[in-house]
Amino acid sequence: RVKGKWAATQPKQPPTKMALQHFDATYSTQLGALWPSIRVALLSERKYGALLNHFSHNPDVEELQGQGCKDFISNGEAFMFPASADHHSEFRPEEDSSSLSTVTHGGGSWQPSPLRLSPNIRCLVFPRGDITRFRPARPDKFGLLSYYLLDAASMLPCLALDVQESHTVLDLCAAPGGKALALLQTQSVRFLCANDLSVSRTSRLKRVLHSYVPKALLTDDKLCITSFDGTIWGEIERNSFDRVLVDVPCTTDRHSLMDDDNNIFSRSRVGERRSLPQLQAQLLLAGILAACPGGDVLYSTCTLSANQNQAVVQQAVQLAEEQHGIQLQVISLRPLAQMFSNTFHFAPDLHLGEMVIPHLAANFGPIYLCKLRRLT
Ligand code: SAM
Repeated sequence: RVKGKWAATQPKQPPTKMALQHFDATYSTQLGALWPSIRVALLSERKYGALLNHFSHNPDVEELQGQGCKDFISNGEAFMFPASADHHSEFRPEEDSSSLSTVTHGGGSWQPSPLRLSPNIRCLVFPRGDITRFRPARPDKFGLLSYYLLDAASMLPCLALDVQESHTVLDLCAAPGGKALALLQTQSVRFLCANDLSVSRTSRLKRVLHSYVPKALLTDDKLCITSFDGTIWGEIERNSFDRVLVDVPCTTDRHSLMDDDNNIFSRSRVGERRSLPQLQAQLLLAGILAACPGGDVLYSTCTLSANQNQAVVQQAVQLAEEQHGIQLQVISLRPLAQMFSNTFHFAPDLHLGEMVIPHLAANFGPIYLCKLRRLT
């Protein structure tokens, strides 16, 4: 038996190891037989996608296509709708009576979702099993970079948000800006408010937007960048935005297994890590309050943890109803998952939302997403 005073002198475990121990303990129960395969993928090199910059004119893109890269978004549509393979189309899936009949937590109900994907969002990926790396993007003659590298699965929350012409959009936790950039690529957003608590990360977000988007589209009447605590957004502005993205801080599972720097599993951050679900629920509730009645809110994370995913959505839906009398509907993202099942592996049978799970042949994610519509 190790005595307390000896235990204190034992070598400290690096945070990456602590993260793995934590995930082994929790995910083997939560994910069962799926966990060993996900674990191997999480510990292997991740795969990126190249979000093409519609505003840049650069031959890099043709070169990538020559290497076998494909736009997974138009490919997904071609897979679902062979007749409209050449352009992004309106997507109105058949209603699924099983999803309609399920009534849920906090009074919400599930509905299938009509998605109309913007033809301007394109994201290139190498084929399944191909782990070629993208080289860094180069600037065109106007100094704009041709693509932004990111986890291709993080495009899904942007697609699921379904931004339409003249929408106002709030991105509550926006830095470093990959999703804000994707939303601007649609060229449909009338006004984007990109917020992030961290001032240094907000500066990075500004740099990203200025490296990809022409100045004429970054004027004050089109874009506002702020550094507020998102949890108090309800005190700033309510019932306002057509679309709200709530891409919260989380245990960032992949990063936590790979990098000891700035790792949320370090001893000094135990309290912060344990209070994540509470912070996430506050942020989601603030996002719900910021949306206009009839507006949509998209919650997303990059963790597999049900405590930070489904449980947070349930809690926020309940708080919205109990404290603010707001009724919400959960919008099914199953059609979106089906559309992109050739590119990503999705967790089967999730009772709330969808989750991309890492897989050795398609090593994207984890990304969890859940869409809520304000009924009142
Ligand atoms: N959406 C971003 C993107 O696509 O590049 C990634 C967002 S990252 C997952 C979460 C962000 O939440 C971090 O940049 C962090 O600074 C920010 N954050 C943490 N606490 C916050 C709070 N209380 N209010 C607003 N932002 C917060």
